[in-house]
Amino acid sequence: MTDTTLPGLPNLQLGTIFCIGKNYVEHAEELNSKVPDEPIVFLKPATSIIFDREAIQLPPKSNNVHHEVELVVAIGRGGKNISEEKALSHVAGYAVGIDVTARDIQQHAKANSYPWTISKGFDTFAPLSSFISVDQITDPQNLDLTLTVNGTQRQHDNTKLMIFPIAKLISYLSEIFTLRPGDLIFTGTPKGVSPIQKGDSIKATLGDSLQTLSVTVE
Ligand code: MG
Repeated sequence: MTDTTLPGLPNLQLGTIFCIGKNYVEHAEELNSKVPDEPIVFLKPATSIIFDREAIQLPPKSNNVHHEVELVVAIGRGGKNISEEKALSHVAGYAVGIDVTARDIQQHAKANSYPWTISKGFDTFAPLSSFISVDQITDPQNLDLTLTVNGTQRQHDNTKLMIFPIAKLISYLSEIFTLRPGDLIFTGTPKGVSPIQKGDSIKATLGDSLQTLSVTVE
């Protein structure tokens, strides 16, 4: 794959896509999962990324694909063993994204103790808005996340409900992985995940309308 520039952050090329599972209590509950005592981490491939006005392609392997609206963090300055106190100074910007999930494949993986990779990693399974630069966000832990399908609201919550806040996630990830400029963190979804169908129009919004992301489903 050729280099992908992050929209809104022209100095950054897409790096590793880290994702956090079950980072909101009511979402863990709606999946009948226990609330984790440390962050649950998985990855998506770069080929899962699509941008505003593009289309999610439903894979024939799944009959139950869900939307998960999430705050997405772009790392601007890399590092290893980053402290929580300094973590937010490593952020370049914020976007809204959708962690598209083949729920049936994920449930099968969970039941068999297999990795989640396939359920989360199909082409087009990571729609991403443009980024807002970090200096335009007063408090990233107080941002509304909203997702509508065909104009009907399905998800609406606030990033203050995260179990592990952004600074903790950056610090935790950097203990394991060397973070690099252009790496992304999908920070987990609040409650309200539900299936999407061919022909749907999905709109995800960060804040009142700081950033919006519109995608269709094919
Ligand atoms: Mg998710």
